[in-house]
Amino acid sequence: MGDHGRRWLFADQLGDHFLDSAEQPVLLVEARSVLRRRRFHRQKAHLVLSALRHRAAELGERATFLRTGTYGEALDRVGGPLTVCHPTSYAADAFVRRRDEVTVLPARGFTSTAGEFKAWADGRGDGRRLLMEDFYRDARRRLDVLMEGDGPAGGRWNFDADNRLPPPSDGMKVLGPWRAEEDEIDEEVRHDLDRWEREGEVAFVGRDGPRTFPATRAEALRALRHFVAHRLPVFGPYQDAILSADPVMAHSMLSPAVNLGLLDPMECVRAAEDAYRCGRAPLGSVEGYVRQLIGWRDYIWHLYWHFGEGYRELNRLSARTPLPGWFADLDADAVEARCLSWALRQVRDTGFTHHIVRLMVLGNYALQRGFDPARLTDWFHRSFVDGYDWVMVPNVVGMSQHADGGMLATKPYAAGGAYINRMSDFCGGCRYRPTRRTGEDACPFTSGYWWFVARNEERLAGNPRTARSVHGMRRLADVDEVCAQEAERGDAPP
Ligand code: SF4
Repeated sequence: MGDHGRRWLFADQLGDHFLDSAEQPVLLVEARSVLRRRRFHRQKAHLVLSALRHRAAELGERATFLRTGTYGEALDRVGGPLTVCHPTSYAADAFVRRRDEVTVLPARGFTSTAGEFKAWADGRGDGRRLLMEDFYRDARRRLDVLMEGDGPAGGRWNFDADNRLPPPSDGMKVLGPWRAEEDEIDEEVRHDLDRWEREGEVAFVGRDGPRTFPATRAEALRALRHFVAHRLPVFGPYQDAILSADPVMAHSMLSPAVNLGLLDPMECVRAAEDAYRCGRAPLGSVEGYVRQLIGWRDYIWHLYWHFGEGYRELNRLSARTPLPGWFADLDADAVEARCLSWALRQVRDTGFTHHIVRLMVLGNYALQRGFDPARLTDWFHRSFVDGYDWVMVPNVVGMSQHADGGMLATKPYAAGGAYINRMSDFCGGCRYRPTRRTGEDACPFTSGYWWFVARNEERLAGNPRTARSVHGMRRLADVDEVCAQEAERGDAPP
């Protein structure tokens, strides 16, 4: 068995950086109970199973690959001792710690350790907020990323102001993302998923489609090289924009591979930094990308544990609306609002949209209507190919729905149709008008925004970042009409 013992790799720990040596024996488990518990997007189930089975095939005799009903059955069958890197959810962490034969090691696959995060958070000991920007700058220094001496490369830590351009009117002019080609393992996965679904054992949301995201380390590396060479140089300026004809624009599309553990985030960071140092990508684009990995991604990971298990149930805005069926089931055709219909269609057909669509279209609509944040978190987790518990709990409960009352973000990300009109090209072809808040052609995002402000008037008035919205709402002569109209819409699709 070797010096290092057998390492159990969860399906989001598939890279070599979760192993200690090139000979270490490995346990891989495909537990059917995971798919039975939740209604995942069909393409997400496919990607995860495909990646797991590809890894088992790659490792050959080094891997014990068990397909069982539950993880417990697999462990009973294989016996100990086993080591596992810190799992990525509270449920999985509790499970491995209950098993005597399993030793839990520190987490891998992130750029900061738990100790480094704690040192940073403790160092703020005066009750100041745990701001992402501060964490990110600390990580830049500690990891020596995009630094010149003691200062940031180019003299600026942050290129956000340059990276918020509306979409270009003549399109992105960028090579499309790297796309996977399916093989016989994908064929087998598709066959199994079809059969399990037919037999009523599992149910999915979303449509099946060709696997386009990497399922192996070799594919993930090709996708990374393609992004850095062809797409990173134009990523920065338009990263917050949405184009109806180009759902992926210059986004990396690497988050599914990084979250499966097929890429080490630090190698993505170094590849992007090299492109800048060699003059192949501008600093604004590289900084914007690096910020997502060593900043946002690690910040979210550590806050997931730092805020504790009860964080997922926070509901400080008392949002209790159940997710309407058309939203939960990704019924894009039931929706006339062009931006929302488009967003649901993207999720239905690909299991993916980029972060601004998630935050400012899907999350914004849910926030305005007071969708239950815990149920919405579960929906994002299940419906997106890169969604995992640790990703979605802070992103949805904190960032998107403000259900933590401001522990993570300083204000709720609610916006009316004017924002979507500025940052996308949807409104021109929509049956609604972004400037209208009442009447037949009232934009549901605009009326929904004022309804949200009215419902949360007291709380928003007390926050310096949202007080102006409350003043604006109080000046509206027709705010009662707006609220009545929204209440009447109920959970009908807009
Ligand atoms: Fe979306 Fe409103 Fe614009 Fe229509 S008018 S696309 S609903 S923001």
